[in-house]
Order: sequence, then C-alpha cells, then structure tokens
Amino acid sequence: MHVLSAASSGPSRMMTITIQDFSGSPIPAAGIRRLMVPLSRLQSTYGRLLRSGARILQVSNGLASTAATPGSSTAGSAPAPAQPAKAARKTPAKAAHADVPVNLYKPKTPFVGKVISNDSLLKEGAIGRVNHVTMDLSGGDLRYVEGQSIGIIPDGLADNGKPHKIRLYSIASTRHGDNLAGNTVSLCVRQLQYEKDGEVINGVCSTFLCDIAPGAPVKITGPVGKEMLLPADEEANVIMLATGTGIAPMRAYLRRMFDPGERAKNPDYAFRGKAWLFMGVPTTPNLLYEEEFQSYLSAYPENFRYTKAISREQKNSEGGRMYIQHRVAEYADEIFSLINLDATHLYMCGLRGMEPGIDEAMTTAAATRGLDWKTLRPQLKKAGRWHVETY
Ligand code: NAP
Repeated sequence: MHVLSAASSGPSRMMTITIQDFSGSPIPAAGIRRLMVPLSRLQSTYGRLLRSGARILQVSNGLASTAATPGSSTAGSAPAPAQPAKAARKTPAKAAHADVPVNLYKPKTPFVGKVISNDSLLKEGAIGRVNHVTMDLSGGDLRYVEGQSIGIIPDGLADNGKPHKIRLYSIASTRHGDNLAGNTVSLCVRQLQYEKDGEVINGVCSTFLCDIAPGAPVKITGPVGKEMLLPADEEANVIMLATGTGIAPMRAYLRRMFDPGERAKNPDYAFRGKAWLFMGVPTTPNLLYEEEFQSYLSAYPENFRYTKAISREQKNSEGGRMYIQHRVAEYADEIFSLINLDATHLYMCGLRGMEPGIDEAMTTAAATRGLDWKTLRPQLKKAGRWHVETY
C-alpha cells in the first residue's frame, strides 16, 4: 500500500482516501472504496479507518505522489519521504541477501587485522567506557555489508589454559569503512564491568578492545549474520530501536543512507525513504555518534528523524526512567501508520531486556487499533520486515 502526502496543502483542500476491507487475504478490486475528506480532518479520519480494520491503500490530493503518514505532519516530525513506497513487495527481503558474505574467516584461521584507531565515543560525565575501534583489513578477503557482525579473539589464554573464545560484535561501519577505502571495519564497544564477590570484574574481550593501541594486531573472524541487513529498496522506511552500543548497526545504516561520501560511493542506493531512530542511553554524554546524526538531521530533515530516551535524565509518564519503549508508546500512531506500509522495516538492537518492554508497548498500541501484536509480529518477521538482534 502507499499513501500520498498532503502536508503542503491548505486545511480546506479535499483529500481522497482509498481503502479496502482488511481481511488479510487478497481482496478483489471491487472492494475498493474512496472517501473524500477535508485536509483538516485527514488525520482523524485516517486513524478511525485504521482502528476499524480498513486497509488504507492511498491518500491523494491530485498532486504528484509521495509516501507519507498523515500523523507525521505534526510539528517536529519528519515529513514524507520524497518518493512513493512501492506497493506490496512479494519477495521477502531475505531472498535478496543470498550473496551476502559469511564466515570468510573461521576461528581456526582468523584474519589478523591491525588497529588503526581506538577513540572514546563518550563526552565528559558519561557513565562507563565506550570506544570506536577501527581495524585495517588490508591484505585479506574480509568483506561485509551493513548489519553484519564479526568475531574477535582476544589475546591471551582463558582460565582453562586454552585460547579465549570468540566474542561477536556488531559492525558499526559500512562496507566501505569509515575511510571509504573498503579496507577497514569499525566496532562500537562498551567495556563490560560487573561486580562479583565485592570485586569489579572487567569483561575479557571488551577490555582488550577498549585498551588496544593503534598498530596492534587483532584476530578477526566472520563476517556473520543476515538478520539485520538493510533492504536494498531505496524507498524503504526504516524504524530503528537501539539501546547503548546496540546503535552499531544503525550507525552503519545511517551512514549508508546519509553520509555524503557514502552516497557518492553508492550510485545504486540513494536513500529516499524515511529513517527513524529511537535511541536509549542513560545520560546525554552517553549519546553515541551524536554529531553524525545531527548532521544528517540538518541535511535530510525530510528523511531522518531522531527520538531519544535518556533514561536517567528524562521521566516517563509514570515518573520512572524514560526507556525507548515509552517513546514507542508515545509515537504509536505514527509507528503503526508506517508499519501498515509494506516498505517499512523495524530493527531492534541492544539490551535483551528491552524486548519485553517493546513488545508490551506494541501490544497496547496494536490493541487500540483492533490488531493483535502476537499475530502481527510473526507476520512482519516472515515478510522479512522485523529484525531483532539483542544480547
Ligand atoms: P547503555 O549505554 O548502558 O544504555 C542502555 C540504555 O538502555 C540505558 O539508558 C538503560 O537505562 C536502558 N535500559 C535498561 N534496561 C532497559 C530495559 N529493560 N528496556 C529498555 N531500556 C533499558 O547500554 P550498553 O551498556 O551499551 O548496552 C547495550 C547492550 O546491547 C549490551 O547488552 C550489548 O551486549 C548489547 N548489544 C547487542 C548487540 C547485538 O545483539 N548485535 C550489539 C551491540 C550491543 P538505565 O541503565 O538508566 O536503566
């Protein structure tokens, strides 16, 4: 389905909403109805139709078509993407990912890369340590695409005298790497720290990576993973839910979509859809890649939207910590309008603990629209539109 934008028209302009009854099965064209409504009533009518279970095929004003959600025309929200989302995609995204590289380097024969840089991503006053580590892949065949992970084997031996096991990290760079030369990979790593018997324990691999100096060798395996790949569709809508270092794949997606150097490198991928990032961090100085995201907001206000949940500074409606599921609940109307479009994909990455909260928010939001999230979520998953990777 796709919807036409009316955001730039006057409030008295008449709009046409084209609908079908929603039964989940192909519906004959004879079931299509068109309703004329003034622009000022478009949003409320749209919401009422969605709640009634109607399938909205199109909203038109007689102008050139653009994909949009009426709910997104409110101040501060991202306007419509510049081009229409394509109607009913029959091929699940997975089919398009058959040639994605996996396991080019295995644990017994890892590629040995070299650290190029290792910098903190945090501002003064932030909690903990989070670094952006870039490694040189020259001389090998380690290729990857956005949304994949690599394995790292830290130096040294485990307590059992054997080499350490591999730890997987989501890749934070695009396939072209931060320097656009196609021979590097970057990770976003938080040093894991926990208390055991009154003692602070540092995570083996995360500490190895946060401490590693430029020039040092690193054993790398992979790449792995096809769950978090971006659709090839330049007109897709991409909703991203990230907590902390779960931002890694999203940072790569957003660079691919909006970084000027990346866009020049990708003549076949000029993103024109709507990208909406929900980012959860404990404090403002813990925000990651903030400057990059702000630059995309300035350059692509029509296509990029950025919603933060700063848990220890902002309060949810019940006075507790603001988590991304509270933001999801807040923007449920717009999120569900987008989900209703076949071109929309949702990505969740970060803390495993956020999954129940997101499910609860989606369940409530779906129920107010007469939908059952328990049924809808597997449908989205099967269609290759619901992507989750949490640790
Ligand atoms: P962080 O900076 O500590 O931020 C996590 C944010 O999520 C904080 O604001 C935290 O709030 C909030 N939060 C805590 N419990 C939550 C819940 N139940 N629901 C929603 N939000 C919640 O994050 P981090 O230390 O980097 O942790 C990121 C996690 O993502 C790690 O577990 C890491 O292993 C995982 N990760 C997974 C992948 C992957 O699967 N590919 C990739 C990267 C990272 P408060 O602390 O204020 O309560």
